[in-house]
Amino acid sequence: MGLKYAFVTGGSRGIGRAICLKLAGMGIPVIIGYHTNETAAREVYDAIVRDGGTASLLQCNVCSKEEVEAALAAWEQAHPNDYIAYLVNNAGIARDNLMFMMPDEDWDAVLQTSVNGMFYVTRYLLPQMMARGRGGRIVNISSLSGLKGMPGQTNYCAAKAAVIGATRALAQETATRNVTVNAVAPGFITTDMTSDLPEEELKKLIPMKRFGKPEEVAELVAFLCSENAAYITGEVISINGGLY
Ligand code: NDP
Repeated sequence: MGLKYAFVTGGSRGIGRAICLKLAGMGIPVIIGYHTNETAAREVYDAIVRDGGTASLLQCNVCSKEEVEAALAAWEQAHPNDYIAYLVNNAGIARDNLMFMMPDEDWDAVLQTSVNGMFYVTRYLLPQMMARGRGGRIVNISSLSGLKGMPGQTNYCAAKAAVIGATRALAQETATRNVTVNAVAPGFITTDMTSDLPEEELKKLIPMKRFGKPEEVAELVAFLCSENAAYITGEVISINGGLY
């Protein structure tokens, strides 16, 4: 029997980094996906290995089908007895602007990263998760923005709402194979993505009066990846300190 790996896209920083560390701490070997930031990805790798965990690094731009498929195929070749049983589609970017001023590139980049990225990675990995009753867990990182809509973020809200739609549909396609598919919808979480936001002002709007921590999101993702969550699928779970 080979190892059952987790693949976390955008594992080099922020929420993805915390998810990698948490899953590794549960004894799951982790593939740290990253795009540009090799130094940060290596730091996550070193932290996992230092704590006795198992990790690999996987560089690819999730917007590129060719890069995704080549990177995953190379990983599979290097790990012939292992398979990816846990997938966390976390890579995402924001390019905020009012719609009437939004450049094509910013619309496309945000949709491509969250939606196409999820599609390319998930489609590639589904057959091995569904094969021979192996089972699997897919967790897609959506956002509060994808549930409620935020002005200045039509691209991001469209992308994150699309992730929810795909989650609910795919969950029904894979249910008989014990592959669960769920989404997590964080509110404001302290990461690079939110570092330019006026945190003091925004905190006043949040019932808990604080931003969330990446580690808090990681706990929820870890639960959805666990055996205890076997009967939860097609669900969207908010983690937002009461901000709806
Ligand atoms: P960060 O900006 O801190 O990290 C983004 C991660 O995504 C990095 O690891 C980055 O890799 C990776 N990434 C970006 N573009 C690509 C790409 N084209 N291909 C592969 N990897 C890519 O973001 P957060 O941790 O804050 O966000 C993680 C997820 O959570 C995103 O989907 C985001 O939309 C969502 N989210 C975040 C919230 C927040 O408040 N922070 C709230 C709700 C949802 P690299 O470092 O190598 O460039």
